[in-house]
Amino acid sequence: MWNVVEKKITPDLMVDRISHISPELLTKWKLKGVILDVDNTLLSKKANVPDDDIFDWVESIRPMMNIVLLSNNIPSRIHRASMPLDLPYIGWTMKPFPWYFKKALRFLNLCPDEVGMIGDQLFTDILGAKWSGVGKTIYVRPMDLRYESCWTKCMRKLEKKVMLQWTTKSSL
Ligand SMILES: [Mg+2]
Repeated sequence: MWNVVEKKITPDLMVDRISHISPELLTKWKLKGVILDVDNTLLSKKANVPDDDIFDWVESIRPMMNIVLLSNNIPSRIHRASMPLDLPYIGWTMKPFPWYFKKALRFLNLCPDEVGMIGDQLFTDILGAKWSGVGKTIYVRPMDLRYESCWTKCMRKLEKKVMLQWTTKSSL
């Protein structure tokens, strides 16, 4: 059973920061669209404007990809965060459940395997994307662990355990 879950939370790539993802890789993977998480992926939970490198990264992929923001946070927060980047968004999405991933895919007007998901949580962003058939998943290390909800803090502990297991396995 755990093997099945583990498969669903194992991303194709792990990076320290979203701006470290090369646009060339996304094209090599033949992606035509990306679904981006917001909090702790694009900007920290208390920020409204992304850092310059992240702004530049979005600009570098914008000509090649359809982009939509997908967040469990309330729509007013996501609206504020989406404004400087001028990106469409779907808020209050109940990730990891697949309903809003499906909505995002319909919005992008792409097949699941043409789309990538980028986010900072294994049990919401990565699990939900894989559950919805999204083609590629990229885990980004969270930007700022302060201000997270009690629930997220618990899930982080579980994530930490899983990642420690991965490190141990890979060093064997
Ligand atoms: Mg997040």
